[in-house]
Amino acid sequence: MPLRLRRQPDLVCQQIVELVTDYLDGALPRADRGRFERHLAGCPQCTAYLAQMRETIRLTGRLRVADLSPAMRADFGELYRGWRAEAT
Ligand SMILES: [Zn+2]
Repeated sequence: MPLRLRRQPDLVCQQIVELVTDYLDGALPRADRGRFERHLAGCPQCTAYLAQMRETIRLTGRLRVADLSPAMRADFGELYRGWRAEAT
């Protein structure tokens, strides 16, 4: 992995969970949006999570913070641990 552009650390999955509502609302600053999408490009579990969020919005009409927490965040944590367990 190239060492260029390391001024800002890459986002980790937990940050994706926290930022996804802003991302889907179009509320993320341009720089954060780029980091978000860069993480998604290399992270199938976050891509799946984003797809799940889009589906939630489609079904409910809008995404509320209450829809996300805490059960869905916990579910995502389980999903993520599962993926990691398979990868190692
Ligand atoms: Zn991720």
